[in-house]
Amino acid sequence: MLPPAEISSELLAQAVDQSLDGITISDALQPDMPLIYVNAGFEKMTGYSADEVLGKNCRFLQGDETAQPSVAVLREALERGEGCIVILQNFRRDGTPFWNEFHVSPVRNADNIVTHFIGVQKDVTARVKMLNHLRQSKRELLLANTKLSVLAQTDGLTGLNNRRHFDEQLQTLLGMAQRSGDSIAVLMLDLDFFKQFNDRYGHPAGDDCLIRAAQVLAEAFKRPGECVARYGGEEFSVVALNMSAEELEQYAQLLCNKIRALGIEHTVSTHGVVTISIGGISLVPNRDTTPASLLKLADAALYEAKAQGR
Ligand code: GH3
Ligand code: MG
Ligand code: MG
Repeated sequence: MLPPAEISSELLAQAVDQSLDGITISDALQPDMPLIYVNAGFEKMTGYSADEVLGKNCRFLQGDETAQPSVAVLREALERGEGCIVILQNFRRDGTPFWNEFHVSPVRNADNIVTHFIGVQKDVTARVKMLNHLRQSKRELLLANTKLSVLAQTDGLTGLNNRRHFDEQLQTLLGMAQRSGDSIAVLMLDLDFFKQFNDRYGHPAGDDCLIRAAQVLAEAFKRPGECVARYGGEEFSVVALNMSAEELEQYAQLLCNKIRALGIEHTVSTHGVVTISIGGISLVPNRDTTPASLLKLADAALYEAKAQGR
């Protein structure tokens, strides 16, 4: 193998000057550390010629953006006589901004005194823009995801929980009751003579009625351990932890009264206004209790309520 060729200082100087990165040397022994060398890469990147900048401190590149956190990081490193890497918002001679990844390293003399700082500057604007774009996309994606999961569990017409979310909540709350030994109540609610309501007043009026009924229910069940949903067409469902049979009956009566008190005309109904029938059960679940068995019991109670005259 041939011995490494001698590298002349001319070649070295040429290599530094021709580097695409901006290369600077500051004099650390003079007040305010002025630039004593800038290469052609620096001139090209910043638009400033060497004549314009030599003798000045490099901070003129910051323009008015002197309060950047990375400027403080850089200043502290220089004060300690240490190197650092920062990304600075800088401005070219024509005022256009760019992101400058600035590596600075100290040069020490034989007495270990810092005599110079060598700076290497890279225009990383494209990378910073890409990163910002990615961050923004990530934020938007998170937001869209949140909206999507809300949508996935919401009934479009009434804004109540939908059946899918109700089923999940029922499963969760049943599991909690099974572990804790608390009671669990399930209610099924169904508007009376609703087919006739639609036939008489039209589907949009029917939709409006569903929305108003849903508002009453949403208001009544909003504590933790409760979930109210639109279970299907004109049927609603409720699951509540720790609701005794007596409380369930009181609640059911109260809700019937509230729906009736909306005073939505329904001349085809024997009641003259829109009413709701409610069936429900409250029990302390055992190991064999399932969501389906609870729903079946509540449904049977609803059927009975309907049979008793709606
Ligand atoms: P019952 O007193 O026995 O409950 O009789 P009903 O007519 O209420 O019950 P049925 O199940 O026979 O009819 C339910 C009706 O609810 C059918 C349909 O016209 C209406 N319905 C279901 N979903 C919607 C909806 O999203 N909007 C409107 N406007 N009506 C709906
Ligand atoms: Mg029905
Ligand atoms: Mg009905």
